[in-house]
Amino acid sequence: MRVIRSTAAMQRLARRCQREGRRVGFVPTMGYLHAGHLSLVHRARRAIGPKGLVVVSIYVNPTQFAPTEDLAKYPRDFARDARLCREAGVDIIFAPSDAEMYPGKSDGRYSAYVVEEKLSRGMEGASRPTHFRGVTTVVAKLFHLVLPDVAVFGAKDWQQAAIVRRMVRDLNFPLRLIVAPTVRERDGLALSSRNKLLTPGQRAQATVLSRALARARAAVKRGPLPAARLKADLARFIAREPLARLDYVECFDADTLQPAARAARGTHLALAVFAGKTRLIDNGRL
Ligand code: AMP
Repeated sequence: MRVIRSTAAMQRLARRCQREGRRVGFVPTMGYLHAGHLSLVHRARRAIGPKGLVVVSIYVNPTQFAPTEDLAKYPRDFARDARLCREAGVDIIFAPSDAEMYPGKSDGRYSAYVVEEKLSRGMEGASRPTHFRGVTTVVAKLFHLVLPDVAVFGAKDWQQAAIVRRMVRDLNFPLRLIVAPTVRERDGLALSSRNKLLTPGQRAQATVLSRALARARAAVKRGPLPAARLKADLARFIAREPLARLDYVECFDADTLQPAARAARGTHLALAVFAGKTRLIDNGRL
C-alpha cells in the first residue's frame, strides 16, 4: 500500500493505470474509518477484481463545512486509518493537504466550484446551505485526480449519493457509481465517524434515529398515511429523548428526492437529529 499526498502524483498514477488498462475503484472518505467505510472498500474490490487498484481518499474537506460546524473537532487518526486500509487490501491512500486541494484558497485566489441545483435544495441542503456545493466540488476534483472506473458511496448519506449520481450523469463523468448499504451497530445506530464525539448518555439515546425508522416502517405496514401525520408522530417520538433534538424528518421519493405527500411502503424516510452539538443522520426505505 502506498500513501500519496500530492495531486500531481495521484493524477500521474491514475493516468498510468488508464494507459495500462488497469481498473480503478475509488472510495472517497473523510477518514476516521469504521466498518461502514471498509464495506465500501470491499465492494470496490469486488467491482474491479483482484488486479484492479483500490484507492481510498482521506480528506476532511473544509468547503463542505459551514463556519459554525465541527470541522476542527472532526475526528482524525491517520495511523489507525492506514492500518485499517492495509488490512482491507487498499492499494493507495490519497491524503492531500488543504493547500494541495485548494491552491490559493487561503489568500482568496481559489474560485471554481461545482453546483448541483435541484436535489441539493431540501433536507441536508436546507439545514446546511453550503454543504453540497462543497461535496460536489471536492468529489468532482477527486474524480479528476483518481480517474476511477468505479466509485462507491454509502446509502447512509442517501441525498449525497443521489446528488453525486446526478452530477456524474449531467457532467459526463466516465464512471460507474455504486451505492452500498448502511452498516449499523448491533443496536441499530448507523456507523459514523461522528459517533466518536457522543457522550455515553448521548450514545444511548442516539438509537432514536434507527428506532424512528423502525416505527415508520411499522406504521406504513398498517397502511399508507399522510406524510405530515407520520412526521408529526416521529417528531413526538424523538422529543421523548431529552438529549436528542430533531433537525428534520422527511418522506420522499428515493430517486427524485421529491417530498412525498403520503407515506407508504417504498417511500424513503430521512432524518437528522442533534445529540448535543453532534449532528447524526439516518435514512431508509419504508
Ligand atoms: P464520510 O467519511 O463520513 O464522508 O463517509 C465516506 C463514505 O462512507 C460515504 O460514501 C458515506 O456514505 C459512507 N459511509 C459512512 N458511514 C457509513 C455506514 N455506516 N455504512 C455504509 N457507508 C457509510
